[in-house]
Amino acid sequence: MGLMDIRDRIANACQEVGRAPSEVELIAVSKVQPLDRVEAVLEQGHTLFGENRVQEAADKWPDFKARFPNVSVHLIGPLQSNKTRQAMELFDAIHSVDRPKLANGIARLAQELGHCPDLFIQVNTGEEPQKAGILPADADGFISEARALDLPIKGLMCIPPAEETPSLHFSLLRKIAERNGLTGLSMGMSADFEQAIAFGATHIRVGSAIFGDRVKPDA
Ligand SMILES: *Cc1c(COP(=O)(O)O)cnc(C)c1O
Repeated sequence: MGLMDIRDRIANACQEVGRAPSEVELIAVSKVQPLDRVEAVLEQGHTLFGENRVQEAADKWPDFKARFPNVSVHLIGPLQSNKTRQAMELFDAIHSVDRPKLANGIARLAQELGHCPDLFIQVNTGEEPQKAGILPADADGFISEARALDLPIKGLMCIPPAEETPSLHFSLLRKIAERNGLTGLSMGMSADFEQAIAFGATHIRVGSAIFGDRVKPDA
């Protein structure tokens, strides 16, 4: 448990499949964690964090960013259209672009703000009704649509169903990315990031294995 342990495990997982650890970005998922735990990881020099709620990030990160200026924060949770502006002002990347309305809103605001966070398209690889993400069958069309809007699409993101073998979902996500010429793969969490690395993950999202169990439940 802890940042250094996760870094070792990333290095080992990379070595096993002949990848360089520098190909894998570790997003430390700080949602719902007590601020002193987050601060401890900031003080160890870690600079990339993930949050799943816009409001929670808005309450927490402006202060931390003022003290730790090299920090980047990525939105990894669903984005409501009415929070798009706030999210674009707050986050360095958004991993949950999953519908045309949201893509259009981001494109419009990118013009107005003069900048746009890096974007990942979330794919609902398990086709779960309660989960965000574009369906696999609609992914190619949506990726083209987003590109036609000139959006900076860096890759794809998925959250496999809890009860299924994650590697099937990692390999599906990689296939969709490859046939669309996308290189970024945001996949893998505390329980399965080593498998995700074996399937080509470029961004792993690890929370509890770094910070400890979340004190409060999250959605
Ligand atoms: C909470 C969360 C994670 C991290 O989960 P852990 O199991 O604590 O590593 C990763 N991705 C998303 C989208 C999350 O909401």
